[in-house]
Amino acid sequence: MKCKLCNSDCNLLADLGQQPLANKYPSNDQEISKENFWHLQALICDKCFCGQLNQIIDRSEMFEDYYYLSSVNHELNDHFKTFANYLSKFKFVLDVGSNDGILLRPLKENGIRCLGIDPSVNVGKIANDEGLETIVDFFNHDSAKYIEKKYGKPDAIVASSIFTHLEEPLDFILALESLISDDGEIFIEIEYLVNLIDNFQFERFYFDRPFYYSVTSMKKIFEECNLSLNRVVEISPHGGSLRLCFSKSKENIKPDSSVDKYLDLEKIKFTKANINAFQFSIDNFAEELVKILKSNQDSKIAGFGAPARLATITNFAKIDSELISYVVDDSPLKVGKYSPGMHIPILSRENMEKDKPDLIIVFAYEYIDSIYEFTKQFNSPHYQPIPPKIIK
Ligand SMILES: [Zn+2]
Repeated sequence: MKCKLCNSDCNLLADLGQQPLANKYPSNDQEISKENFWHLQALICDKCFCGQLNQIIDRSEMFEDYYYLSSVNHELNDHFKTFANYLSKFKFVLDVGSNDGILLRPLKENGIRCLGIDPSVNVGKIANDEGLETIVDFFNHDSAKYIEKKYGKPDAIVASSIFTHLEEPLDFILALESLISDDGEIFIEIEYLVNLIDNFQFERFYFDRPFYYSVTSMKKIFEECNLSLNRVVEISPHGGSLRLCFSKSKENIKPDSSVDKYLDLEKIKFTKANINAFQFSIDNFAEELVKILKSNQDSKIAGFGAPARLATITNFAKIDSELISYVVDDSPLKVGKYSPGMHIPILSRENMEKDKPDLIIVFAYEYIDSIYEFTKQFNSPHYQPIPPKIIK
């Protein structure tokens, strides 16, 4: 297959078998019977090192009811509070994919003029009800024009954890370029493909996310839209992410040393040998995880966290409610439903308190410290699923 960004050849990174939509949590047998599955493969471009899926599933229904509420996550709240302090030097901040207002809230508290835009109706409503002004729409040329006309040009635009979801990244970048003020800055936060490969996080591949970015690929597509990459900052959310800072291309602006550092690193990391080794490793890890679950079938096994990637792991490794009785999640929008594809019940913390599990598989393992504050009462081993290992 050819790269959707630069038309060079792609190599297969991971074949993840038949997978459902990872963000569609069925509530009952009728919804379970309507569930669709597609073949999920992750590929990586030979030249620009952009990760991408073999097929793009029709997106129209994916955002209809979106279950991820950023603000239920303590670590993310801290991340955006710190970021809001940094952004205090700007006059007008636009947050694209603002979710329930996790960045708008601390910006507003700091007295910074800000606006959100998010396509999810229920999540946008939560923000607006709290007084965090949010346009419920996709960010594109039309909404960019609307924002400019009604609010003026922002001097900072943030897009955090949404870039990977975009089906047409170039159109999105062109809309950013048209809206940002001449001296403004654009901050894009992405999960980093190098970390994903280094840590065997195949579970981060799912149909909602057609692209997985390297610095090389981000620099290339933004440059095509007359935006230059000025620096790259490491940030903590989602298991090792990057913040890339762009501005309109100008002669007098030179990138700092962080940009070359990442470009050089990627030449070493994305070798054919590393890419070929990935599938072998994840097959082994999935097998190992199932072995652990089967050898503990006399114990009470529960999961913690039902992020979208729970679907990728459980469908790839064929883990159902026989192997993990239930998964606990803090989002009220998920509790009472089932995990996509393998139909593990999603319950609340109270259920876990009553059940007192003997073994906990922590699917949201990057948040283990705050999860452990609650789960340490059970004195049970806590496992990270992939690679399977005891983390507490
Ligand atoms: Zn490419």
